[in-house]
Amino acid sequence: MKGYFGSVRFFKNLILLVIIVAIAVPTVIAFNNGSQVKQAVAHAAELDALLLEMQKKDAMVQSREVIEEAQSEMEEEEPEEQQKLEQSPSEINYQTLYPDFYAPQPLQADTISEKTIYLTFDDGPSERTDEVLAILAEKNVKATFFVVGKEDEASLARMKAIVDAGHTIGMHSYSHKYAQIYESVENYLDDMYQLFVLIKEETGVTPTVFRLPGGSINAYNSAVYQEIIAEMLRRGFVPYDWNLSSEDAASNGPTSIQIISNVTSRAAKVSRGIVLMHDSVTHTATVGALAETVDQLKEMGYSFAALTPEVRPMLFSYTS
Ligand SMILES: [Zn+2]
Repeated sequence: MKGYFGSVRFFKNLILLVIIVAIAVPTVIAFNNGSQVKQAVAHAAELDALLLEMQKKDAMVQSREVIEEAQSEMEEEEPEEQQKLEQSPSEINYQTLYPDFYAPQPLQADTISEKTIYLTFDDGPSERTDEVLAILAEKNVKATFFVVGKEDEASLARMKAIVDAGHTIGMHSYSHKYAQIYESVENYLDDMYQLFVLIKEETGVTPTVFRLPGGSINAYNSAVYQEIIAEMLRRGFVPYDWNLSSEDAASNGPTSIQIISNVTSRAAKVSRGIVLMHDSVTHTATVGALAETVDQLKEMGYSFAALTPEVRPMLFSYTS
């Protein structure tokens, strides 16, 4: 051993030991520091995320406050108007009823219909339908039939005959019971949907035009007519009142001569006329007036057409 201390080998080993210590100590220190750094980085990331979260929450609170402030200002200014605007369509339950009760959409609305007469027949089909169809065929005139819900074989055959002859079949109502259908929008839709399905199944045609029984505003529907029309429009159906009443449903039972005169005298004042007539078993005077009415209107320079969704809708004025 004595020879070892102070020997060349001793110094070699000493140097080696020093080198090992010199490498190992900083490595251990660095390793410890490294994990601390890693921990610190992880901790900082957590803090960052937390800070971000807090900033987001703060921003949300702030923007919510801004919105609430704006809303309260708006409500103060126009409370009723604002409530209407805020009501999302999904909040109206009846809008989700009958999801297949929608009209196919026309590509564009017709802009020219000057000097055009649209003959319309309400309440059919009836025992008079065949006679009306024969006269229209003879005069080569297309018209519109706003039908009601009748499911006997003869009525179904007449609905089909209307469509086959190239006329428009429109919806009037299934039951035609004013008190019932104008009780609520839901009642109205329930009734009209029945008719919609019946027409589709029996004729293969999807009806797109409609007329409210009694016209779009009457003594029975003042509480619901706006909602009904808005909902039907939303579903793509086009409403038609009339501006030329033949008065053929007047209680005094007008003659054919009176009916002709009612239509032609009123037609002279309009460029676009939607004529109201009726198709029911009692309306023999209407059938009697039809051919002559058409002839006189043709002499006045009018042409005839059936209503389609491309024809601009006609609604009574609600200003009074
Ligand atoms: Zn009617």
